[in-house]
Parts: sequence; structure tokens; C-alpha cells
Amino acid sequence: MRKPFIAGNWKLNLLTEPAMNLAGELKNRLRGVDQVEIAVAPVFTALSAVSKVLAGSNLGLSAQDLYWEDAGAFTGEVGPAMLKDVGCKYVIIGHSERRQFFHETDESVNKKVKASLKSGLIPICCVGELLPEREAGKTLSVIERQVKGALAGISKAEVPPLVIAYEPVWAIGTGKVATPEQAQEVHQFIRKQLALIYDPTLADSIRIQYGGSVKPDNIKDLMKMPDLDGALVGGASLKAETFVGIIKAIG
Ligand code: PEP
Repeated sequence: MRKPFIAGNWKLNLLTEPAMNLAGELKNRLRGVDQVEIAVAPVFTALSAVSKVLAGSNLGLSAQDLYWEDAGAFTGEVGPAMLKDVGCKYVIIGHSERRQFFHETDESVNKKVKASLKSGLIPICCVGELLPEREAGKTLSVIERQVKGALAGISKAEVPPLVIAYEPVWAIGTGKVATPEQAQEVHQFIRKQLALIYDPTLADSIRIQYGGSVKPDNIKDLMKMPDLDGALVGGASLKAETFVGIIKAIG
């Protein structure tokens, strides 16, 4: 069965020392939790230091983005080999903030998902509709385009480690969480897309996280939904109390 997976996206927050402190506190407070897979995603500059803090713990390290080449003339970019070199196990790809502010497209998301799978990094691939798209009744067609785009040319043999995060953009950082039923409708739809692209057995094994204003007091109801396998957490992952609270609520 699918193991619940909670990942904390620290975004552009926390210098090295506070990042190490938060990682240390999470490591202590989450010691022994093995029924939930856990990861945190610090900024690039803190990855190496946080990696050392998390060594030997049940918390995995994630990057927030990557480039699809390992080396070369690509000023400012960080490739899969470098992320693995500092101890990353996961990488978030196609977060709505990257799509919105940094020109991330379905094509670049696809290249990044391919590169991460090829290198052995687990991609947490984000999809989600904007509020006007939801209001226009376009949610499922947007999700279908994003899922198909992200997975184009990726074979059945390559795809199993993939994690998908459904993050309705109107719920990110707004305090406006999707209802469990709204989330389930889209999660079920994503699983159906995976079954169509691959097959139902493979679709059943892929984890789909929900993201968007997840807190200790709303995670339980969300997790009751059959196709919801965990969460990608932004704001509430920046405080040990709330991140641990989310994990303990389901663990
Ligand atoms: C996110 O950025 O992935 C996210 C879900 O943020 P928040 O939990 O703050 O809504």
C-alpha cells in the first residue's frame, strides 16, 4: 500500500543556522516515526548543512528545484548530480511559484522530471489550477494537461518513484484549504490519468500529495480521502510545532 508522505517546502526562508536548528528539532521530535515518510526542502545554500544534521535520521532531504543537466555552461543552475552529492533524495519540480514567477512550463517540468528520475532523485511534481481556471470549470482539463506534460516520454519502467503534489494555487499560502471532497475529486482524476497513461496497478502505487494551507487541524480530514497520500506543506513546515503536529496527526 502507499505509505503516507509529508514534505515541508521551506521556500526562500531560513539562513543556514536557523535551518540547521529547525532540522535538528524535527529530527529529535520525529525520532521513531516510521509509518509516515518525511522530507524537508531547504534553500540550495542550506542543503549541505541540513544534510549533515539529518544524517542517520528518518527525515529525507529535498531540493526545491533542479536543472536537467549535470554540468556545463549553465550559469546559476544546479543539476541532479550536485543535489545527490549533498545528500538529496527528493526534488520538488514545477511548484506553482516557479510556474508563476520563473517561467516554468510543462516542457521544462518534463525535462526536470526526466532528469531527476534518471539520476535516482525522487521527483515531487506539482500540478494545480489557478482560481480563475477553477471558476471557469477548467480544473480537470488544466490538471490533465499538466500531468500529461510532466510525464511525456517517461516509460512505465522509469515512473514508479514519482510523487505528484496536487496544489490548487488558490489554496497555497492563503489559509484557504480545499475541502477534502474538492481534493479527492482531483486526486482521483490524477490517478485515472496515470492509469490511462500507464496502467491501473502502477497508478495505484503512485503517491499523490495534497498541498495548500495544510495545518495540524485539517490534515486528518484530508487524509480520510482514499486517493490522498500525504501533503506538501509550505508555511506550516517552518515551525517544528506545526510540522510535527501535522505528522503526529496522521502517524
Ligand atoms: C506550498 O507552497 O507548497 C504550500 C502548500 O504552501 P502552504 O502550505 O503555505 O499553503
